[in-house]
Amino acid sequence: MSEDGFGFTLRFSRRYSMAHRLISGVAPNCRVPHGHDEVVTVDIVENSNAGLDEKTNMLVEFEQVKGRWFKWIDKAVDHSFHLGDGDPLVAYFRENEPDMLPRLLITPGDPTTEIRAACFARKLRAFLDADNPGFACHRLTIQETPTNAVEFRPWGANAVLPQGDHWWTRPDQSINDLAAA
Ligand SMILES: [Zn+2]
Repeated sequence: MSEDGFGFTLRFSRRYSMAHRLISGVAPNCRVPHGHDEVVTVDIVENSNAGLDEKTNMLVEFEQVKGRWFKWIDKAVDHSFHLGDGDPLVAYFRENEPDMLPRLLITPGDPTTEIRAACFARKLRAFLDADNPGFACHRLTIQETPTNAVEFRPWGANAVLPQGDHWWTRPDQSINDLAAA
């Protein structure tokens, strides 16, 4: 985006179903595994603000910037179970239902909407860095319920998430690091 604020923003939304539980104890109701139908919305801008392609009048063909992101939401995030890395249910699934491990989305600490927004934004950055290095996500919103949403400005992602190689830094379909462990 230019300094005077002129520029185009591409905005894409996708809906998915998920389940999670929070074990910190701050919200007792959330200790019970439960689900939401969420909508994640991302704002994508072109870093150089080069403007429209002369032939197509597009910034970029939409599929090029949203394709891998939507595939990840549809195939990996939809109907996944979000658990914190310290939740004993992770060990339960490892021991009793290992075929379910690819369906567990594991966050550092409780899988709140806030930390998931940070993980999602970092994952989208990995996809954009791989496919569309001229583009960046400037805002990501998870609408958890019709009345609750969390908005995240991705430039803070490095302050929120543990450093190093994790599923949120890899431009692949992963939603946890269990296979690597
Ligand atoms: Zn919830």
